[in-house]
Amino acid sequence: MSDPITEQVKDHDWIMARAEEFKAMGETEPRLARDPVNQPMINNWVEAIGHQDPRFADGMAPPAMAQVWTMYGLDPTRPAKDPLHGTMQMLDSAGFTSVLGTNCDQVYKRALKVGEQVTITSKLDSVVGPKKTGVGEGYFVTTVNTWRVGDEEVATMLFRVLKFKPAARAPKVDKSKTIRPMRNRDTEFFWEGTKQGEIRISKCNACGELRHPPGPMCPVCHAADRGYVVASGKGTIYSFLTHHAPQLPGKELPLQLGLIELPEGIRMVGELIGEDPAIGDEVDATYEKIDDDTTLVYWRKS
Ligand code: ZN
Repeated sequence: MSDPITEQVKDHDWIMARAEEFKAMGETEPRLARDPVNQPMINNWVEAIGHQDPRFADGMAPPAMAQVWTMYGLDPTRPAKDPLHGTMQMLDSAGFTSVLGTNCDQVYKRALKVGEQVTITSKLDSVVGPKKTGVGEGYFVTTVNTWRVGDEEVATMLFRVLKFKPAARAPKVDKSKTIRPMRNRDTEFFWEGTKQGEIRISKCNACGELRHPPGPMCPVCHAADRGYVVASGKGTIYSFLTHHAPQLPGKELPLQLGLIELPEGIRMVGELIGEDPAIGDEVDATYEKIDDDTTLVYWRKS
């Protein structure tokens, strides 16, 4: 099957030609706000922002709410001719998939009053590029929205976004660059333990309290007499997150960081090895020697 569209080379000329088509469409048909300007929405908004102006409690809408009245809501579908959405899709298809930074200039002609129902129109103002930026090459897309009551213009918004193609990064992972843990008199016993393939949990010799991370004094009885117990090396994932940025020396991203609950009754933060961790998964400690002084502990699904 031949598809003339997918065979099209989506280069700069193609992008600028599509942009001209969107610009030539001009302003969209007015779209009516879902609801008239209303006091409950104003109340919620001023409470969230922290406004105290008594006028906003009595039928006047803060002008900065202009955009609120014509929000699309949670429905992800957009009108086919929405110039911002259309231009974004066009750039997506050409590989400019990422958005960084937006710039928004709003102009208010007058405040709205409860009961008024606005319309919005939008048009594509410009597509400028390609620009080389620190994050990759991209195009600045500028749209203009206009809000009206009947034929009267009440507010406008110029909205600019950088749509860019993420620069290809070849992550060169040099494990020797892995960040070494901080070590001091409170933590030295822990890192001596990992070198021997065990997890040591600080224990108060006076009252028996186990704690992690370790510290100089028992938080329960305030004794400074410390020892440790050796943990079983088993745990369960209490919580976790995925780290995407910034790049970490010696690490391949993304990586998963977990809060591991140990059966001994403490929790510790550690890197998770393997795919698709889930809360409640059982994990085992595993060790990696980084150099003669440092062995790190990771957690792998049992
Ligand atoms: Zn104690």
